[in-house]
Amino acid sequence: MSDYQYDLPFDIMDIANILNLRIRRPGRKSVYADCPFCGDTRGKLNLNLERNQFRCNYCGESGGAIAFYGKAHGLSNSEAYREICEILYGDANPKDYKAMSRKKEKPDLPTNSELASVYDRNQTYEMLLSMLTLTNKHVEDLLARGLTLEQIEKNGYRSTPAFGFDRLAKILLEKGCTIAGVPGFFEKTEGVWSINFKSCCSGILIPYRTLSGMIQAFQIRLDKPFVDEKGRKTKYIWFSSVDEEKGVSSKSPAHFVGNPCDENAVFVTEGALKADIASALSGRTFIAVAGTGCIDSLKEPFEVMKRNGITKVYECLDMDKTVNENVSKAAIKLTNMISEFGFETKTTKWKWDKNNPDHNKGIDDMLLSKKKEELL
Ligand SMILES: [Zn+2]
Repeated sequence: MSDYQYDLPFDIMDIANILNLRIRRPGRKSVYADCPFCGDTRGKLNLNLERNQFRCNYCGESGGAIAFYGKAHGLSNSEAYREICEILYGDANPKDYKAMSRKKEKPDLPTNSELASVYDRNQTYEMLLSMLTLTNKHVEDLLARGLTLEQIEKNGYRSTPAFGFDRLAKILLEKGCTIAGVPGFFEKTEGVWSINFKSCCSGILIPYRTLSGMIQAFQIRLDKPFVDEKGRKTKYIWFSSVDEEKGVSSKSPAHFVGNPCDENAVFVTEGALKADIASALSGRTFIAVAGTGCIDSLKEPFEVMKRNGITKVYECLDMDKTVNENVSKAAIKLTNMISEFGFETKTTKWKWDKNNPDHNKGIDDMLLSKKKEELL
């Protein structure tokens, strides 16, 4: 009795209810909740209702429904299974569990499309970008982060549009672009496609690119971050349509910027925009995970980097790795993975004051401060 593939008499939401977890962002296909493992309250814990799996994008803890309960209470899977059934079904005969669980209303899950190839995604996304603009406010924000106008243009940032979603989808279809299976797109009504932009989630589209520069996904840098009661912010969300009919999840790929065959070191950081800025300011090659819980997303690009002859990969996560247990764990996992791939590695550190944590925490901020000092 170990995992979700078993036909269980309970699902991941039953466990979330037992654990009394607060749901931060509901959805039809997946739900974002508070994490019982790292205590995150920004909704980094993803509950996949279809596969009955959980995964925290912050601490990286993951598994099936039984393990969800077991890990939260320090129980083995068989102990966890017994306890869950006791809570849900009391002393009912185990033979009746199934029938009792079927009486519950099952969620009405949308049918998703299969993820389109990276070539199709890139073509559709590039075409989409050619139809969108970047507002002056967003240009100013990016200039303030240290990018030049040329770099902003080259990297392909755009503001999310406020209206005309069906029309954009229609034009892309007419131009021969693939829509089905491209994250962000979905079928609104039979034969009418649309894009999953929402006014509450407006912001800057940030491309996540492969080593060869193809756009495989976008994150949206939110104009108004989601804030939890502890004041912690969620600044980025994926551009996805997983909760919609014929939509699809973007997954959490890594982002590459720079020379795909760099003889010098490639630096690993967190967040595509940070990587873009750090690369622009230093002239070096960067690869970014979307979050410290997404270290595994590096496996695929690491394979390619290895084939390309890259030999050095340096850990360059934010400096809170020196004080925050989750980030520090991620840094260790990352360093181990880099070594397993046979790359030479090093941990990059710079001057940072934990009493002034927002100053120079990321490599991009540090490089920008350095550049400003040089100009003085
Ligand atoms: Zn967590």
